[in-house]
Amino acid sequence: MSTLEIKDLHVSIETEQGEKEILKGVSLTIKTGETHAIMGPNGSGKSTLAATIAGHPRYNVTSGSITLDGDDVLEMSVDERARAGLFLAMQYPVEIPGVSMTNFLRTAKTAIDGVAPSLRHWTKDVKAAMSELKIDPEFAARNVNEGFSGGEKKRVEILQLELFKPKFAVLDETDSGLDVDALKVVSEGVNRAKENNNMGTLLITHYTRILRYIKPDFVHVFVDGQIAEQGGAELADRLEDEGYDRFVNIDAKA
Ligand code: ADP
Ligand code: MG
Ligand code: MG
Repeated sequence: MSTLEIKDLHVSIETEQGEKEILKGVSLTIKTGETHAIMGPNGSGKSTLAATIAGHPRYNVTSGSITLDGDDVLEMSVDERARAGLFLAMQYPVEIPGVSMTNFLRTAKTAIDGVAPSLRHWTKDVKAAMSELKIDPEFAARNVNEGFSGGEKKRVEILQLELFKPKFAVLDETDSGLDVDALKVVSEGVNRAKENNNMGTLLITHYTRILRYIKPDFVHVFVDGQIAEQGGAELADRLEDEGYDRFVNIDAKA
């Protein structure tokens, strides 16, 4: 079992008006095999948390820590984070002209594992995963994400997740812009990665819809850069009924 631990994390960014604190003390512990949903209104800092775990240079950690089995994640380069078992959707560029999906996947897999996958198994694994995710086989020869629709990009994200077998995946609004069919396919992929590889998931979402297909063990409500409330799956049901008004109003009164 592995543990990803975020402790009292404070993160700020440079804006034209100067330094702005976005994350104001976030603590969260996630173990492999667990699914944590982070929910919250727009602008509450969800993507900032994801980007900070990913190692985006724009985000300055002013205090607090992120560790993976005790190792300092904040000291790691983006590549080292991937090799340590973190899957961070945002580290992958939107489009990579001139690089085919096949080459990209094999190169990335080799970099993450430190050894090239056996060609025979790899080809079979890629085909099987593409078929499960209902990705047309012709996509293997296409350039990474070039001209892909929003839904196709999400499927390719989950394809990577199935092939790279990370310990932890951070999925930032993977559900946005998906129709119900695509949402089911994508959710099944995430669930398979959990079942087959005991993956831990940080599922960031604005809407409860995806939680019908991916059952969270824990739900954290994010408001103004902090976790305002935590609970189990039932908290998501409450948010579905009540929305975020309760939290946002508290925030506005403060
Ligand atoms: P969420 O993902 O919950 O919608 P974000 O993490 O994207 O929230 O944003 C949190 C806050 O940080 C917002 O107030 C947003 O305006 C601000 N913010 C995020 N990125 C930038 C940026 N690049 N420049 C200025 N402000 C930003
Ligand atoms: Mg966001
Ligand atoms: Mg905020």
